[in-house]
Amino acid sequence: RTLAMVASPLPGEPATGAVLVLHDVTDLRRLENLRREFVSNVSHELKTPLTSISAYAETLLNGAMEDEETCRTFLQRIEEQAERLNKLIADLIALARLDSIEQAFELEPVNATYILQKSIDEHQGVAKSKQIELISVAPNDEMEVIADSDGFQTIIDNLLDNALNYTPAGGQVTVRWRRDGEWSRIDVEDTGVGIPREHQARIFERFYRVDKARSREVGGTGLGLSIVKHLCQVFGGSIRVTSQVGSGSQFTVLLKNGQNSNGQTWM
Ligand code: ADP
Repeated sequence: RTLAMVASPLPGEPATGAVLVLHDVTDLRRLENLRREFVSNVSHELKTPLTSISAYAETLLNGAMEDEETCRTFLQRIEEQAERLNKLIADLIALARLDSIEQAFELEPVNATYILQKSIDEHQGVAKSKQIELISVAPNDEMEVIADSDGFQTIIDNLLDNALNYTPAGGQVTVRWRRDGEWSRIDVEDTGVGIPREHQARIFERFYRVDKARSREVGGTGLGLSIVKHLCQVFGGSIRVTSQVGSGSQFTVLLKNGQNSNGQTWM
């Protein structure tokens, strides 16, 4: 916070006022702490898979390579850890882009129906392999949202990845969308593990995970929802979650409707 006080000259007197500017350093300090915490998290997240890769490679070179079975298992582990690094770096690049002031999105009416259907189709394979039923409930006519099309796809892909990752076999994931006045509303609902109330506000923070081990196991980076929230805000919309442990979670995205009340595209 900045407080500025200006001493005005008396009527008829020349302007010789002084300006006193007081900066509230608590905000700056808070930002600096957040930045430090972020750098330390990134270092840790990068180091963990690298340490693992080195250890497997070293064990292989020290003789484990002789046994074909062990060799295969260790190489698979190395591949998994490399994949994790890849995902983490891709998420970090996405975040850095969102943070940079130069990133100006071309906001325009985007065919949400097409992207939602495409993302659902692309996730059907994983859903089947996990024995999860993935369905959509949607209006007959097309829905448009004000967004950037790649960014909108990132939002939907991330929410679907999570819904499938945190739902056990036999569960259900439902994607619903509809127009709601000047907004378009998208719900991604699952019958999964749920999120305890005290964690619900924090899952949108960078690297925040309810259960670190579980997130790692499903290949999570802890960055997905922070990217999703950032995108929703850049598009002038919002995201919220309601959830109950053991019964499931529902993520609701609200974005500006791309059509006016006559169904015509804006802009
Ligand atoms: P991650 O890569 O760990 O999934 P996210 O930022 O996407 O990171 O999500 C943060 C955390 O929020 C997850 O680690 C998980 O604990 C929780 N979470 C996200 N989506 C769901 C969901 N559909 N059901 C249960 N927990 C979820």
